[in-house]
Amino acid sequence: MDRTNASLLQRRQAAVARGVSQVHPIVADHAHNATVVDVEGREYLDFAGGIAVLNTGHLHPKVIAAVQAQLGKLTHTCFQVLAYEPYIALCEQIAKRVPGDFAKKTLLVTTGSEAVENAVKIARAATGRAGVIVFTGAYHGRTLMTLAMTGKKVPYAAGMGLMPGGVYRAQYPCALHGVSVDDAIASIERVFKNDAEPRDIAAIVIEPVQGEGGFYPAPVEFMQRLRALCDQHGILLVADEVQTGAGRTGSFFAMEQMGVLADLTTFAKSVGGGFPIAGVCGKAEIMDVIAPGGLGGTYAGNPLACAAALAVLEVFEEERLLERSQVIGARLSAGLRALQAKHPSIVDVRGLGAMVAIELGVGGDPHQPDAELTNRLVARARDKGLILLSCGPYGNVLRMLVPLTVEDALLERGLAILGECFAELA
Ligand code: PMP
Repeated sequence: MDRTNASLLQRRQAAVARGVSQVHPIVADHAHNATVVDVEGREYLDFAGGIAVLNTGHLHPKVIAAVQAQLGKLTHTCFQVLAYEPYIALCEQIAKRVPGDFAKKTLLVTTGSEAVENAVKIARAATGRAGVIVFTGAYHGRTLMTLAMTGKKVPYAAGMGLMPGGVYRAQYPCALHGVSVDDAIASIERVFKNDAEPRDIAAIVIEPVQGEGGFYPAPVEFMQRLRALCDQHGILLVADEVQTGAGRTGSFFAMEQMGVLADLTTFAKSVGGGFPIAGVCGKAEIMDVIAPGGLGGTYAGNPLACAAALAVLEVFEEERLLERSQVIGARLSAGLRALQAKHPSIVDVRGLGAMVAIELGVGGDPHQPDAELTNRLVARARDKGLILLSCGPYGNVLRMLVPLTVEDALLERGLAILGECFAELA
Protein backbone atom coordinates (compact mmCIF):
# COMPACT_ATOMS: atom_id res chain seq x y z
CA MET A 1 0.00 0.00 0.00
CA ASP A 2 1.11 3.54 -0.77
CA ARG A 3 2.47 5.02 2.45
CA THR A 4 3.53 8.53 1.53
CA ASN A 5 2.66 11.60 3.58
CA ALA A 6 0.49 12.83 0.69
CA SER A 7 -1.51 9.63 0.28
CA LEU A 8 -2.10 9.19 4.00
CA LEU A 9 -3.10 12.83 4.39
CA GLN A 10 -5.57 12.36 1.55
CA ARG A 11 -7.09 9.43 3.44
CA ARG A 12 -7.03 11.55 6.59
CA GLN A 13 -8.97 14.28 4.86
CA ALA A 14 -11.62 11.85 3.70
CA ALA A 15 -11.89 9.92 6.98
CA VAL A 16 -11.20 12.32 9.85
CA ALA A 17 -13.56 15.06 11.01
CA ARG A 18 -12.47 18.48 9.76
CA GLY A 19 -12.51 20.01 13.24
CA VAL A 20 -9.49 17.90 14.17
CA SER A 21 -6.87 20.21 12.71
CA GLN A 22 -3.21 19.55 11.97
CA VAL A 23 -0.24 21.94 12.04
CA HIS A 24 2.29 20.04 9.94
CA PRO A 25 1.56 18.02 6.76
CA ILE A 26 3.53 15.07 8.06
CA VAL A 27 2.53 11.56 9.08
CA ALA A 28 4.72 10.27 11.89
CA ASP A 29 5.89 6.67 11.71
CA HIS A 30 8.29 6.23 14.61
CA ALA A 31 10.26 8.32 17.05
CA HIS A 32 13.15 8.28 19.46
CA ASN A 33 13.84 10.78 22.24
CA ALA A 34 13.85 14.21 20.51
CA THR A 35 13.46 12.98 16.94
CA VAL A 36 10.47 11.81 14.88
CA VAL A 37 10.66 9.95 11.57
CA ASP A 38 7.83 10.27 9.04
CA VAL A 39 6.38 7.51 6.83
CA GLU A 40 8.82 8.42 4.05
CA GLY A 41 11.85 8.03 6.33
CA ARG A 42 12.55 11.72 6.82
CA GLU A 43 13.84 12.62 10.28
CA TYR A 44 12.71 15.68 12.22
CA LEU A 45 13.91 17.27 15.42
CA ASP A 46 10.88 17.56 17.70
CA PHE A 47 10.80 20.93 19.46
CA ALA A 48 7.02 20.62 19.88
CA GLY A 49 7.33 17.78 22.37
CA GLY A 50 3.96 16.35 21.42
CA ILE A 51 2.43 19.59 22.80
CA ALA A 52 4.26 19.43 26.12
CA VAL A 53 3.68 15.70 26.58
CA LEU A 54 7.22 14.47 26.01
CA ASN A 55 9.39 16.01 28.72
CA THR A 56 11.08 12.59 28.95
CA GLY A 57 11.28 12.27 25.16
CA HIS A 58 9.74 9.77 22.77
CA LEU A 59 9.94 6.11 23.82
CA HIS A 60 12.06 6.57 26.93
CA PRO A 61 13.38 3.02 27.51
CA LYS A 62 12.46 3.07 31.18
CA VAL A 63 8.90 4.21 30.44
CA ILE A 64 8.49 1.60 27.71
CA ALA A 65 9.88 -1.16 29.96
CA ALA A 66 7.47 -0.20 32.74
CA VAL A 67 4.51 -0.30 30.35
CA GLN A 68 5.66 -3.63 28.91
CA ALA A 69 5.92 -5.10 32.41
CA GLN A 70 2.42 -3.81 33.23
CA LEU A 71 1.10 -5.20 29.92
CA GLY A 72 1.96 -8.68 31.09
CA LYS A 73 0.06 -8.23 34.34
CA LEU A 74 -3.07 -6.08 34.11
CA THR A 75 -4.18 -3.70 31.38
CA HIS A 76 -7.55 -2.72 32.73
CA THR A 77 -10.04 -2.97 35.47
CA CYS A 78 -12.20 -0.06 36.43
CA PHE A 79 -10.59 1.38 39.59
CA GLN A 80 -14.08 1.85 41.08
CA VAL A 81 -14.66 -1.90 40.77
CA LEU A 82 -11.25 -3.35 41.71
CA ALA A 83 -8.29 -1.27 42.92
CA TYR A 84 -4.74 -1.75 41.59
CA GLU A 85 -1.43 -0.63 43.00
CA PRO A 86 -0.11 1.65 40.18
CA TYR A 87 -3.09 4.01 40.66
CA ILE A 88 -2.51 4.21 44.41
CA ALA A 89 1.26 4.60 44.03
CA LEU A 90 0.87 7.39 41.46
CA CYS A 91 -1.48 9.32 43.74
CA GLU A 92 1.10 9.01 46.54
CA GLN A 93 3.92 10.18 44.29
CA ILE A 94 2.01 13.13 42.80
CA ALA A 95 1.01 14.31 46.29
CA LYS A 96 4.70 14.39 47.25
CA ARG A 97 5.44 16.69 44.32
CA VAL A 98 2.51 19.11 44.55
CA PRO A 99 3.79 22.03 46.65
CA GLY A 100 2.33 22.37 50.14
CA ASP A 101 3.04 20.75 53.48
CA PHE A 102 -0.53 19.57 54.08
CA ALA A 103 -2.40 16.27 53.74
CA LYS A 104 -3.26 15.72 50.07
CA LYS A 105 -5.44 13.38 48.05
CA THR A 106 -5.47 12.79 44.32
CA LEU A 107 -7.96 11.79 41.62
CA LEU A 108 -6.81 10.35 38.30
CA VAL A 109 -8.48 10.90 34.93
CA THR A 110 -7.34 10.67 31.32
CA THR A 111 -7.05 14.16 29.80
CA GLY A 112 -6.22 17.67 30.92
CA SER A 113 -9.73 18.87 30.08
CA GLU A 114 -11.22 16.28 32.42
CA ALA A 115 -8.77 17.27 35.14
CA VAL A 116 -9.90 20.91 34.98
CA GLU A 117 -13.53 19.85 34.69
CA ASN A 118 -13.17 17.77 37.88
CA ALA A 119 -11.31 20.52 39.73
CA VAL A 120 -14.31 22.79 39.08
CA LYS A 121 -16.73 20.09 40.27
CA ILE A 122 -14.73 19.63 43.47
CA ALA A 123 -14.42 23.38 44.07
CA ARG A 124 -18.16 23.82 43.60
CA ALA A 125 -18.98 20.98 45.98
CA ALA A 126 -16.47 22.22 48.57
CA THR A 127 -17.69 25.82 48.60
CA GLY A 128 -21.35 25.38 47.74
CA ARG A 129 -20.83 28.10 45.11
CA ALA A 130 -21.01 27.88 41.33
CA GLY A 131 -18.87 30.67 39.85
CA VAL A 132 -15.34 30.43 38.51
CA ILE A 133 -13.00 33.27 37.60
CA VAL A 134 -10.61 32.64 34.72
CA PHE A 135 -8.31 34.85 32.67
CA THR A 136 -7.90 36.40 29.27
CA GLY A 137 -5.72 34.12 27.12
CA ALA A 138 -6.52 31.07 29.27
CA TYR A 139 -6.73 27.61 27.73
CA HIS A 140 -8.36 24.92 29.84
CA GLY A 141 -9.62 22.34 27.33
CA ARG A 142 -12.26 21.25 24.86
CA THR A 143 -15.13 19.92 27.00
CA LEU A 144 -18.03 22.35 27.25
CA MET A 145 -17.14 23.73 30.72
CA THR A 146 -13.44 24.06 29.91
CA LEU A 147 -14.34 25.67 26.57
CA ALA A 148 -16.39 28.22 28.49
CA MET A 149 -13.31 28.80 30.66
CA THR A 150 -10.97 29.12 27.66
CA GLY A 151 -10.43 32.69 26.49
CA LYS A 152 -10.15 32.19 22.75
CA LYS A 153 -13.51 31.06 21.37
CA VAL A 154 -12.59 30.88 17.67
CA PRO A 155 -12.15 28.22 16.50
CA TYR A 156 -12.52 26.22 19.71
CA ALA A 157 -16.15 27.06 20.46
CA ALA A 158 -17.23 28.45 17.10
CA GLY A 159 -20.75 27.44 16.09
CA MET A 160 -21.40 25.55 19.32
CA GLY A 161 -23.95 27.90 20.76
CA LEU A 162 -24.41 28.68 24.44
CA MET A 163 -21.56 27.82 26.77
CA PRO A 164 -22.11 26.77 30.41
CA GLY A 165 -22.59 29.78 32.69
CA GLY A 166 -20.95 30.98 35.87
CA VAL A 167 -17.62 31.71 34.17
CA TYR A 168 -16.19 35.22 34.68
CA ARG A 169 -13.07 36.57 33.03
CA ALA A 170 -10.41 38.81 34.52
CA GLN A 171 -7.22 40.09 32.90
CA TYR A 172 -4.04 38.03 32.98
CA PRO A 173 -1.18 40.37 33.88
CA CYS A 174 1.19 41.01 31.00
CA ALA A 175 3.68 43.89 31.17
CA LEU A 176 4.54 43.55 27.46
CA HIS A 177 0.94 44.37 26.52
CA GLY A 178 0.35 46.99 29.16
CA VAL A 179 -1.55 44.97 31.78
CA SER A 180 0.10 45.61 35.15
CA VAL A 181 -0.41 43.48 38.24
CA ASP A 182 -2.56 46.32 39.63
CA ASP A 183 -4.68 46.32 36.44
CA ALA A 184 -5.18 42.56 36.64
CA ILE A 185 -6.19 42.67 40.31
CA ALA A 186 -8.51 45.60 39.55
CA SER A 187 -10.17 43.50 36.85
CA ILE A 188 -10.99 40.83 39.46
CA GLU A 189 -12.43 43.50 41.74
CA ARG A 190 -14.55 44.61 38.77
CA VAL A 191 -15.86 41.07 38.38
CA PHE A 192 -16.82 41.12 42.08
CA LYS A 193 -18.54 44.48 41.68
CA ASN A 194 -20.37 43.94 38.39
CA ASP A 195 -20.69 40.25 37.58
CA ALA A 196 -20.71 38.03 40.66
CA GLU A 197 -20.10 38.68 44.32
CA PRO A 198 -17.21 36.82 45.95
CA ARG A 199 -19.69 34.67 47.91
CA ASP A 200 -20.83 33.22 44.56
CA ILE A 201 -17.31 32.35 43.37
CA ALA A 202 -16.04 28.82 44.03
CA ALA A 203 -12.62 29.11 42.43
CA ILE A 204 -10.11 31.21 40.60
CA VAL A 205 -8.44 28.99 38.01
CA ILE A 206 -5.07 30.09 36.66
CA GLU A 207 -2.19 28.73 34.60
CA PRO A 208 0.99 29.82 36.45
CA VAL A 209 2.53 30.23 32.99
CA GLN A 210 -0.06 30.53 30.23
CA GLY A 211 0.52 27.80 27.67
CA GLU A 212 -1.68 28.07 24.58
CA GLY A 213 -2.20 31.73 25.54
CA GLY A 214 1.41 32.59 24.68
CA PHE A 215 3.87 31.39 27.37
CA TYR A 216 3.34 34.36 29.68
CA PRO A 217 4.53 33.64 33.22
CA ALA A 218 2.36 35.17 35.96
CA PRO A 219 4.36 37.59 38.12
CA VAL A 220 4.98 36.20 41.63
CA GLU A 221 3.43 39.36 43.11
CA PHE A 222 0.23 38.67 41.19
CA MET A 223 0.02 35.11 42.47
CA GLN A 224 0.52 36.36 46.02
CA ARG A 225 -2.25 38.91 45.67
CA LEU A 226 -4.52 36.29 44.11
CA ARG A 227 -3.88 34.01 47.07
CA ALA A 228 -4.71 36.85 49.47
CA LEU A 229 -7.97 37.60 47.60
CA CYS A 230 -8.92 33.92 47.71
CA ASP A 231 -8.20 33.74 51.45
CA GLN A 232 -10.17 36.90 52.10
CA HIS A 233 -13.27 35.59 50.33
CA GLY A 234 -13.12 31.84 50.93
CA ILE A 235 -12.44 31.17 47.23
CA LEU A 236 -10.30 28.20 46.17
CA LEU A 237 -7.18 28.81 44.11
CA VAL A 238 -6.80 26.21 41.35
CA ALA A 239 -3.47 25.99 39.52
CA ASP A 240 -3.91 24.48 36.06
CA GLU A 241 -0.48 22.88 35.67
CA VAL A 242 -1.46 20.73 32.69
CA GLN A 243 1.13 22.40 30.47
CA THR A 244 3.57 23.72 33.11
CA GLY A 245 3.70 20.41 34.99
CA ALA A 246 6.24 17.61 35.11
CA GLY A 247 9.32 19.76 35.29
CA ARG A 248 8.85 21.91 32.21
CA THR A 249 9.47 25.10 34.19
CA GLY A 250 12.48 23.88 36.18
CA SER A 251 10.48 22.72 39.21
CA PHE A 252 8.13 19.75 39.08
CA PHE A 253 5.16 22.12 39.37
CA ALA A 254 5.51 25.81 38.50
CA MET A 255 3.67 26.91 41.66
CA GLU A 256 6.82 25.98 43.58
CA GLN A 257 8.31 29.16 42.12
CA MET A 258 5.30 31.36 42.84
CA GLY A 259 5.69 31.70 46.59
CA VAL A 260 2.09 30.66 47.33
CA LEU A 261 0.18 27.40 47.40
CA ALA A 262 -2.81 26.31 45.35
CA ASP A 263 -5.73 24.50 46.98
CA LEU A 264 -6.12 22.26 43.93
CA THR A 265 -3.63 21.45 41.17
CA THR A 266 -4.46 19.91 37.81
CA PHE A 267 -1.86 17.91 35.90
CA ALA A 268 -1.74 15.87 32.67
CA LYS A 269 0.40 15.73 29.52
CA SER A 270 4.06 15.13 30.37
CA VAL A 271 3.30 13.28 33.62
CA GLY A 272 2.45 10.25 31.45
CA GLY A 273 5.42 10.53 29.08
CA GLY A 274 3.18 9.78 26.09
CA PHE A 275 0.46 7.77 27.84
CA PRO A 276 -2.89 9.37 28.69
CA ILE A 277 -2.99 10.25 32.37
CA ALA A 278 -4.19 13.37 34.16
CA GLY A 279 -5.63 14.31 37.50
CA VAL A 280 -6.37 16.68 40.33
CA CYS A 281 -4.38 16.80 43.55
CA GLY A 282 -5.24 19.00 46.49
CA LYS A 283 -5.97 19.45 50.15
CA ALA A 284 -7.38 16.17 51.45
CA GLU A 285 -10.40 17.77 53.11
CA ILE A 286 -11.36 19.50 49.85
CA MET A 287 -10.74 16.45 47.66
CA ASP A 288 -12.89 14.34 50.01
CA VAL A 289 -15.95 16.58 49.81
CA ILE A 290 -17.53 14.64 46.95
CA ALA A 291 -19.26 11.44 48.11
CA PRO A 292 -18.18 8.00 46.80
CA GLY A 293 -19.34 7.53 43.20
CA GLY A 294 -19.22 11.23 42.35
CA LEU A 295 -15.77 11.02 40.75
CA GLY A 296 -13.97 8.58 38.45
CA GLY A 297 -14.65 6.93 35.09
CA THR A 298 -14.20 3.64 33.25
CA TYR A 299 -10.68 4.31 31.96
CA ALA A 300 -9.65 6.96 34.48
CA GLY A 301 -6.17 6.15 35.80
CA ASN A 302 -5.62 3.22 33.44
CA PRO A 303 -2.93 0.82 34.80
CA LEU A 304 -0.68 1.15 31.72
CA ALA A 305 -0.73 4.95 31.93
CA CYS A 306 -0.11 4.84 35.70
CA ALA A 307 2.87 2.53 35.16
CA ALA A 308 4.23 4.93 32.53
CA ALA A 309 3.78 7.91 34.86
CA LEU A 310 5.51 6.16 37.76
CA ALA A 311 8.45 5.48 35.43
CA VAL A 312 8.47 9.11 34.28
CA LEU A 313 8.81 10.21 37.91
CA GLU A 314 11.75 7.84 38.40
CA VAL A 315 13.40 9.11 35.23
CA PHE A 316 13.13 12.64 36.61
CA GLU A 317 15.12 11.62 39.69
CA GLU A 318 17.64 9.39 37.95
CA GLU A 319 18.42 11.81 35.13
CA ARG A 320 18.06 14.92 37.30
CA LEU A 321 15.66 16.39 34.78
CA LEU A 322 14.63 19.37 36.93
CA GLU A 323 18.21 20.64 36.82
CA ARG A 324 18.32 19.77 33.14
CA SER A 325 15.15 21.82 32.59
CA GLN A 326 16.90 24.86 34.05
CA VAL A 327 20.03 24.28 31.95
CA ILE A 328 18.01 23.84 28.76
CA GLY A 329 15.96 26.92 29.60
CA ALA A 330 19.08 29.02 30.13
CA ARG A 331 20.62 27.78 26.87
CA LEU A 332 17.42 28.39 24.89
CA SER A 333 16.98 31.86 26.38
CA ALA A 334 20.59 32.79 25.62
CA GLY A 335 20.33 31.47 22.04
CA LEU A 336 17.04 33.25 21.44
CA ARG A 337 18.33 36.52 22.95
CA ALA A 338 21.31 36.36 20.58
CA LEU A 339 18.81 35.93 17.75
CA GLN A 340 16.77 38.86 19.05
CA ALA A 341 19.85 41.10 18.93
CA LYS A 342 19.98 40.47 15.17
CA HIS A 343 16.27 40.42 14.41
CA PRO A 344 14.09 43.23 15.78
CA SER A 345 10.93 41.33 14.79
CA ILE A 346 11.55 39.34 17.99
CA VAL A 347 9.85 41.65 20.46
CA ASP A 348 10.23 39.40 23.49
CA VAL A 349 12.11 36.36 24.77
CA ARG A 350 10.53 34.96 27.92
CA GLY A 351 9.77 31.91 29.95
CA LEU A 352 10.28 29.92 33.09
CA GLY A 353 12.79 27.05 33.09
CA ALA A 354 12.60 25.24 29.76
CA MET A 355 9.16 26.73 28.98
CA VAL A 356 10.59 29.39 26.68
CA ALA A 357 9.12 31.36 23.79
CA ILE A 358 9.70 34.30 21.49
CA GLU A 359 7.04 36.77 20.39
CA LEU A 360 7.07 38.35 16.94
CA GLY A 361 5.85 41.84 16.06
CA VAL A 362 5.75 43.62 12.70
CA GLY A 363 8.72 45.98 12.55
CA GLY A 364 9.53 45.20 16.17
CA ASP A 365 6.19 46.58 17.41
CA PRO A 366 4.77 44.36 20.17
CA HIS A 367 1.30 45.74 19.40
CA GLN A 368 1.35 44.42 15.83
CA PRO A 369 1.42 40.65 16.14
CA ASP A 370 3.26 39.05 13.22
CA ALA A 371 1.45 35.74 12.75
CA GLU A 372 2.42 35.66 9.09
CA LEU A 373 6.15 35.66 9.82
CA THR A 374 5.57 33.15 12.62
CA ASN A 375 3.80 30.76 10.23
CA ARG A 376 6.50 31.16 7.59
CA LEU A 377 9.19 30.43 10.19
CA VAL A 378 7.33 27.32 11.35
CA ALA A 379 7.01 26.09 7.74
CA ARG A 380 10.64 26.86 6.83
CA ALA A 381 11.89 25.19 10.00
CA ARG A 382 9.89 22.09 9.12
CA ASP A 383 11.45 22.03 5.64
CA LYS A 384 14.81 22.08 7.38
CA GLY A 385 13.83 19.24 9.70
CA LEU A 386 12.72 21.11 12.83
CA ILE A 387 9.18 20.78 14.21
CA LEU A 388 7.98 23.91 16.00
CA LEU A 389 4.61 25.08 17.32
CA SER A 390 3.21 28.56 17.64
CA CYS A 391 0.78 29.78 20.29
CA GLY A 392 -0.78 32.98 21.63
CA PRO A 393 -4.13 34.56 20.81
CA TYR A 394 -2.72 35.97 17.57
CA GLY A 395 -0.53 32.98 16.70
CA ASN A 396 2.63 35.12 16.83
CA VAL A 397 4.47 33.32 19.62
CA LEU A 398 6.97 30.54 18.87
CA ARG A 399 7.20 28.16 21.81
CA MET A 400 9.98 25.73 22.58
CA LEU A 401 8.87 22.39 23.99
CA VAL A 402 12.16 20.56 23.77
CA PRO A 403 12.25 17.16 25.50
CA LEU A 404 14.27 17.60 28.69
CA THR A 405 16.22 14.48 27.67
CA VAL A 406 17.45 16.11 24.43
CA GLU A 407 21.12 15.66 23.60
CA ASP A 408 23.14 18.93 23.69
CA ALA A 409 24.11 18.56 20.02
CA LEU A 410 20.45 18.36 18.97
CA LEU A 411 19.51 21.35 21.12
CA GLU A 412 22.23 23.33 19.34
CA ARG A 413 21.10 22.02 15.97
CA GLY A 414 17.56 23.18 16.63
CA LEU A 415 18.75 26.65 17.59
CA ALA A 416 20.97 26.78 14.51
CA ILE A 417 18.07 25.85 12.21
CA LEU A 418 15.90 28.52 13.79
CA GLY A 419 18.74 31.02 13.25
CA GLU A 420 18.95 30.06 9.56
CA CYS A 421 15.18 30.48 9.19
CA PHE A 422 15.35 33.99 10.67
CA ALA A 423 18.29 34.90 8.44
CA GLU A 424 16.30 33.81 5.38
CA LEU A 425 12.89 35.22 6.28
CA ALA A 426 12.97 37.96 8.91
N1 PMP B 1 -5.11 23.03 30.52
C1 PMP B 1 -4.02 23.50 29.94
C2 PMP B 1 -3.21 24.55 30.64
C3 PMP B 1 -3.59 23.00 28.69
O1 PMP B 1 -2.48 23.48 28.12
C4 PMP B 1 -4.36 21.99 28.07
C5 PMP B 1 -3.95 21.39 26.73
N2 PMP B 1 -3.28 22.22 25.85
C6 PMP B 1 -5.50 21.52 28.71
C7 PMP B 1 -5.86 22.05 29.94
C8 PMP B 1 -6.37 20.45 28.11
O2 PMP B 1 -5.70 19.23 28.09
P1 PMP B 1 -6.18 18.03 27.12
O3 PMP B 1 -5.88 18.47 25.73
O4 PMP B 1 -5.37 16.85 27.56
O5 PMP B 1 -7.63 17.83 27.36
